[in-house]
Amino acid sequence: MGKPTGFMEYKRETSVSEKPLERIKNFNEFHTPLSKEEQQIQGARCMNCGVPFCQSGMNIMGMTSGCPLHNLVPEWNDLVYTGNWEQAYNRLKKTNNFPEFTSRVCPALCEAACTCGNWGDAVTCKENEHGIIENAYEKGYAAAKPPKVRTGKKVAVIGSGPAGLAAADQLNKRGHLVTVYERDDRVGGLLMYGIPNMKLEKWVIDRKIAIMKEEGITFITGTDVGKDVKAAKLLKEYDRIVLACGAKNPRDIKAGTFIVGNKNTLSRS
Ligand code: SF4
Ligand code: SF4
Repeated sequence: MGKPTGFMEYKRETSVSEKPLERIKNFNEFHTPLSKEEQQIQGARCMNCGVPFCQSGMNIMGMTSGCPLHNLVPEWNDLVYTGNWEQAYNRLKKTNNFPEFTSRVCPALCEAACTCGNWGDAVTCKENEHGIIENAYEKGYAAAKPPKVRTGKKVAVIGSGPAGLAAADQLNKRGHLVTVYERDDRVGGLLMYGIPNMKLEKWVIDRKIAIMKEEGITFITGTDVGKDVKAAKLLKEYDRIVLACGAKNPRDIKAGTFIVGNKNTLSRS
């Protein structure tokens, strides 16, 4: 476990947010992460609970509690504490194809479920994850690792959002030849066009896509399958097809406009 007394000795510390008047000058990320040493101290706060709710990903009354990916949170918290950053990365990659995305945009269900949070502040699991993956890029652990053996099987993945990318990554690791089709002009789907820069700057997506290309995945953008390429053609060309097109139908919020009258009245138009 982290440090047996760490949760009593150290306070929860998180990245520093830029001042509001500075942050409104652009749409970019506005958090400065902790240093590696500071992050290690945060790793020390993990108690390595016998039942680690942080990684449980349970469904309770229709809501998810704990990490839905079952990330090995207590393991890598400990590895962060002891400074074993490479091993922490290896354990993180066991369950998570894209920690560079989740450690930025995930609502941190792990922390909401953390036992430390019952009596004080939860362990900074999400920022520990961010520290692990960014260190891995810095040190080269996250570099491309193309599969050594190819199966000769061809798979088409339709849609390059998070689901399509994860499917492509897994299939490529198994040695299949994967081609991802995307109807927009850039790869990423919701990551690219649905999440603002202040949560996920686009270079983070491009950095990962470049690695996936190096590992052998082909991306074809600006191609609407069904219109630009017929399904029959793909069925002929590929051994398997994965549909990961997402749900493009918008779901409108049923909200009216409120008109403010005097301070006691609100009327709905
Ligand atoms: S922040 Fe990471 S560990 Fe926590 S719930 Fe999200 S993906 Fe899982
Ligand atoms: S619930 Fe919190 S304290 Fe317990 S193992 Fe998970 S992160 Fe550590």
